[in-house]
Amino acid sequence: MRRSLHMKLVLIMVLLIVSLMTVVGAFLMNSVTGYYINDFYRQIASAFGEDNVDFLQDLQIPTQGETDGAAMLDEVLAAYVGVLGVDGRNRNYYVLDGVTGRFLAGSAQEPEGGVQITPNISAALLGEVGLESDAAADYMDAAVPIRRGEQSYVIYILDNRETVRSLNGEMFPLILEALALGLVISILLSFLLSKTMVTPLQRLTDGLQEVAAGDFSKKLEVTSRDEIGQLTESFNSMAGQLQNTIAAVRNERNKLDTLFLHMADGVVAFDREGKVIHTNPAASRMLRRAFTQQDSYGQLFGDLFPLEEVEQVDGHLSAERMVAGRCLELLLAPFARGDQGGVLVLIHDVTEQRAAEQTRKDFVANVSHELRTPLTNIRSYAETLEEGLGDMPAETAKNFLTVILNETDRMTHIVQDLLTLSRFDSGRSELHLARFPFAEAVQDTYQAVILDAQKHAHTVRLELPDKLPEVLADQERVMQVMMNIVSNAIKYTPDGGTITLSAGVREGRVWMEVDDNGIGIPPTDRERIFERFYRVDKARSRQSGGTGLGLSIAKEIAQLHEGDLYLVDKQGPGLTIRLELPVDGPRKEDSHGS
Ligand code: ADP
Repeated sequence: MRRSLHMKLVLIMVLLIVSLMTVVGAFLMNSVTGYYINDFYRQIASAFGEDNVDFLQDLQIPTQGETDGAAMLDEVLAAYVGVLGVDGRNRNYYVLDGVTGRFLAGSAQEPEGGVQITPNISAALLGEVGLESDAAADYMDAAVPIRRGEQSYVIYILDNRETVRSLNGEMFPLILEALALGLVISILLSFLLSKTMVTPLQRLTDGLQEVAAGDFSKKLEVTSRDEIGQLTESFNSMAGQLQNTIAAVRNERNKLDTLFLHMADGVVAFDREGKVIHTNPAASRMLRRAFTQQDSYGQLFGDLFPLEEVEQVDGHLSAERMVAGRCLELLLAPFARGDQGGVLVLIHDVTEQRAAEQTRKDFVANVSHELRTPLTNIRSYAETLEEGLGDMPAETAKNFLTVILNETDRMTHIVQDLLTLSRFDSGRSELHLARFPFAEAVQDTYQAVILDAQKHAHTVRLELPDKLPEVLADQERVMQVMMNIVSNAIKYTPDGGTITLSAGVREGRVWMEVDDNGIGIPPTDRERIFERFYRVDKARSRQSGGTGLGLSIAKEIAQLHEGDLYLVDKQGPGLTIRLELPVDGPRKEDSHGS
């Protein structure tokens, strides 16, 4: 850059000097020639002017007895050579015949071939003074007609311009010398200029290169107030702004990176060609794969939508995919359209959501089903009653009405259970906590079921330790749980079975276990026993007035107390179920009311 700018400066200066000297030289030489020509005509005009009476008289008045007028004129003119500037070499006078223009006398010999008749001589032959200058000619001349006595003559002054030519010839080397000196000065000046201009520019260039390489911290020193100084200042402020902008962008990027890194949803970004440009750990975890630079959109999501379609979409496209038993929702959207854009795929695990949706659907289907069965029964019995009214024996009619009442009770039971569950779900169910002896509650339950158990010829054993603490809980609900599990043991144990109620305390928690030797639960159903409406044997449960909601309500109550209700692993027939409650009640008392 330095060299080229310097060369340009030298060239400009040289051209400037050469053209300037050419113009000045031409003007000077022209002026000298012009001055010389003008001076010639002024001199001649003044010599033959009316002011110079003596000279004119000497020329016009012949002497007495004059025979050769031309020789006399020659004499007069020879006396006035100083006035006419005649030197006999470059400027001469000639006396010509006033009619023919023939050479008669002169300060020099007659030129070879005679005096050339110029326009001025022609004018003088016609009696006019010939003082016209011919710029194109290489001579200057003037011709003045003179009448001397009877004779007419023409005095002709001819200058061959040699004087001005030699003057110009002397001036030319001078101009060349000045030109050479000017060139030397211009080259020196161009060095100086290039130093003052190129050095700051070079510093700017270096600074720009550093900025381009990413170093924005460098500030250039402003050494002058001229345009280069302003440029340096602008550069400094530009670099500062660029630094701020880049810091802001970097900050945003860091924020985004942290967000991507820790967000629960997976993110995979692709460039316009479909190459992976960004992924987060959640994406690898959810899609069960590690990503490499070689992975492409087509390979990963090409089966859902073509890349071009996603790039064109307004908003986003969505799809679902099962990966390793998890249901993943994929949202595909284009970002920053244009060359820099691409496609972003957001992966959201919706397994739980879908399962909850399914549970809700199943629940609604179950509720409808559970309510429809008693309703159908009620309707068919009521219709039969209506049709047979009068003919039907009173006994049968009473039986029918009993069925209708039982079915109505059953429906009421289901609706009540559903209401209880709904209160649990919405968090509106309050526990009325109070301290009561746990052992007593177990005993009360025993008393409440013993008659029913005896009806089925069951042996009911009660095993209580000597000391059981008082427990802080909602007594009514705890009793409801105990009744439910003991009733189930009675219900699902064939007559003549053995049911054991035991209780104890361990690590701040009281427990009650109900063990029976009844039909038990197949291993595949054990996990689902606490689900709403889940029953191993629907017919048997319904027959015994069960709704399939008892255990789920019981488990909710136990959990509300921060306790638990679960099946205990055991060998042999039957089932063991255990209720556990914290002695001092739930810690988060406030969340459940008092
Ligand atoms: P249900 O009103 O049908 O008894 P529960 O929620 O109380 O409803 O019980 C759910 C299901 O669990 C019952 O239908 C039954 O199949 C099974 N079950 C509960 N307790 C026992 C038990 N002690 N022995 C065998 N199966 C049981």
